[in-house]
Amino acid sequence: MDCFDKLKQDILQNYPRLKPGDTFKFACHPGISCFNRCCADVNILLTPYDVLRMRTRLGLGSQEFLDRYTILPFGPQQKLPIPILKMNDDADKKCPFVDLETGCTIYSDRPWPCRMYPVGLASPDDTPGQEEFYFLLKEDDCQGFECDKEWTIQEWMDDQGVEEYDEMGKLWGEITLHPKIQLGEIVEPKQLDMCFMASYDLDKFRRFLFETKFFEKFEIEADLTEKLKEDDLELLKFGFRWLRFCLLGEKTLKVDEEVAKARLAEFS
Ligand code: SF4
Ligand code: SF4
Repeated sequence: MDCFDKLKQDILQNYPRLKPGDTFKFACHPGISCFNRCCADVNILLTPYDVLRMRTRLGLGSQEFLDRYTILPFGPQQKLPIPILKMNDDADKKCPFVDLETGCTIYSDRPWPCRMYPVGLASPDDTPGQEEFYFLLKEDDCQGFECDKEWTIQEWMDDQGVEEYDEMGKLWGEITLHPKIQLGEIVEPKQLDMCFMASYDLDKFRRFLFETKFFEKFEIEADLTEKLKEDDLELLKFGFRWLRFCLLGEKTLKVDEEVAKARLAEFS
C-alpha cells in the first residue's frame, strides 16, 4: 500500500465527514508565520484540467509542460497514469511556482488541491453513486486554523473558485471512477497511452485527430471540428468523450455511415 492509499484509508475510516453547510475556522494570508511552508515537498496529483490551466498560464505546449513540471509514477497500485507536480530538486523540495515573498506565482491557475486546502473531498471505495464527503486536512505546521475567520465548506469553495474545476473534474471522474477502470480492465499499454494522450497531452491528441483519418471515420459536428483546431478546453472535453467511446465502450461518438456500411460489407 503506497502513501496515497494509506492516507485514503485513514481518511475513510477516521476523519469526520463534513457537508457543504458545515463550518470550520481558517485563514491564510501573507504575513502569517507559516506563509508558503505548505508549498514544498508535497504530492499534488494533477487533473487534466489542472494541467491545461497551468500550461496555458505558462504559455507551454502540453508535452513541454509535462516534461518540465510533472512526474508520472505508475505502478501496480494505480489504475491510470496520473501526473504529479514535480517539486524542485533541492533540499527544501519547493514547488517550482512558489515565490517566498509573494506566494504562488500562478495563483489564479493553481491546481485544484491547492485551491481546496484545507478542505478535501473523498469518495468511499471510488465508486460512482457512493456519497462523497468533505473533510479537513490539517498539516502540522499550518497556522491557518488558529484564526477566527469562519467559513462553511461551500463558502470556502466559492471563495477559492473551484466551480469550473469541479465541472471538469466531474467529467474526468466519469472515466476514472468507471467500473471498467476501477476493476482494472483497462491495462493494455496502448489503452493507457491513449488515455494519457487524450486527457493530458492535448497537443499530441490534436495531431492524432487532424493528422489521421479520424474525421472520415466518425460523424463529428462541423462547428465542433473547427473548434477542436484551436480551442483546448473543447479539445479536452472531446478527449473525455473519445475515451468513453474507445475505452469504456459507450456510444458517445457515431461512426460515419459509409464507413459502417463498408465494414458491414467486409463481413457479408
Ligand atoms: S502551485 Fe502554487 S499554491 Fe500550489 S504548491 Fe505550488 S506555489 Fe503553492
Ligand atoms: S501552511 Fe496553512 S496558513 Fe500557512 S501558508 Fe500554507 S495553507 Fe496558509
